[in-house]
Amino acid sequence: MSDTTAVIGKNKPMNAHEMATAQLNRAAEVMGLDPEIHTILSQPKNELIVNFPVRMDDGRHVMFKGYRIQHNNIMGPYKGGIRYHHEVHLDEVKALAAWMTWKCAVMEIPFGGAKGGIKFDPRQYSPAELERITRRFTHALGNNIGPDHDIPAPDVGTNAQTMVWLMDTYMNFTPSDRKNAVRGVVTGKSLTSGGSQGREKATGQGLVFVVEEWAKENNFSLNGATFAVQGFGNVGSFAARILAKHGSKLVAVQDHTGAIRSVDGLDAVKLADWVKKNGGVAGFPGGDVINQTEFFSTQCDLFIPAALENQITAETAPLLKCRAVFEGANGPTDIDGDRILRERGIELLPDVLANAGGVTVSYFEWLQNRRAESWTLEEVDARLHTMMVHAYATVRRIARDRKIDNRTAAYVHALTRIETVYKERGIFP
Ligand code: NAD
Repeated sequence: MSDTTAVIGKNKPMNAHEMATAQLNRAAEVMGLDPEIHTILSQPKNELIVNFPVRMDDGRHVMFKGYRIQHNNIMGPYKGGIRYHHEVHLDEVKALAAWMTWKCAVMEIPFGGAKGGIKFDPRQYSPAELERITRRFTHALGNNIGPDHDIPAPDVGTNAQTMVWLMDTYMNFTPSDRKNAVRGVVTGKSLTSGGSQGREKATGQGLVFVVEEWAKENNFSLNGATFAVQGFGNVGSFAARILAKHGSKLVAVQDHTGAIRSVDGLDAVKLADWVKKNGGVAGFPGGDVINQTEFFSTQCDLFIPAALENQITAETAPLLKCRAVFEGANGPTDIDGDRILRERGIELLPDVLANAGGVTVSYFEWLQNRRAESWTLEEVDARLHTMMVHAYATVRRIARDRKIDNRTAAYVHALTRIETVYKERGIFP
């Protein structure tokens, strides 16, 4: 299996931007969003595309295409990850940037939304090449990013090391008396270079806090519950390892290398070590190799997509045999998938809530950088817990009161806050 579209099947996947727009339109209609504000929010404020050459280890120069889309900054500086993947394209990054705006507003964090990426497969490049690609991209972005303006973070194909290269490059074109003041230009850094305790696991941890709240609301025991995860990178592997601590059983996993299943349960900790060494779940001892259809049809209580967009679709949603879906990935469920899950009575906790732990701890990292503080893991986890519980309760209350699905409820919450600010501030001039 080489890419998502190939894995998922023959139907042309829905364009992520069209999908994000349809989600926005649905919520706008439900809440009666001001039409002018709706129009403003339908497009990003800024779309930056840069083409830049990078020297490869063999001396050749290769051109790369990078994106930074700044969707909205009315609630605070633009915020969002940087993705390195061979399928990155403008409409995908536009959708991901809009989802960041809604996510930060759902969490009541003072950030707006952005996203960036470079269209290439990082697995095909050496660490030295990845460093030069990252530094040259950062240079091309120039003053379009900054700790009070636009703050990148890791996403698919990038990690703490990528963020440290980005920060160092940005510092190198900052006057020396201000270098240390710009540490917060990125979040998701290593602890030693100014990162936060708990940031690496934050998205998986936040997702499990949402699972816990859902379990409480539904009088459901996580001890002995079964779950399946698609994508075993940062989000999927941390979510699985933390759920395993609750006594929940990982019964199936799929990533870009294949899918495995075990009714007795897969050891999430050993699997994470295996993936680190071998690059994917394929070959992990203790699981039966299964195909795409078998993976989606696995009987489980919780299904956690934590890979890419457009995974739960008209084709795959009818296969699911779970009670609830928790979106670790951004945009894993398309419009048909949403409808089919609703019709089938499978509850969905949307990305803008379920995977918001990452940006929440990124906010904590940014605050610590500004104040030259270093919080303990316990403090970070406790603050994250409070914010996830609050956001979950708010979204569920709106969903119940208005009799709408959780995704639309999350959007209504986010859009109401954004609309209020637009109305207070007015539209310049
Ligand atoms: P990652 O690069 O660490 O892992 C990505 C995973 O997806 C890998 O296991 C990879 O094998 C798998 N994958 C790739 N192509 C696949 C395919 N065709 N079929 C099945 N699996 C495939 O990335 P991540 O940071 O874990 O991000 C995963 C998702 O979570 C993305 O949608 C990302 O936007 C979202 N997200 C990440 C964060 C974060 O803090 N890292 C925060 C919020 C949301």
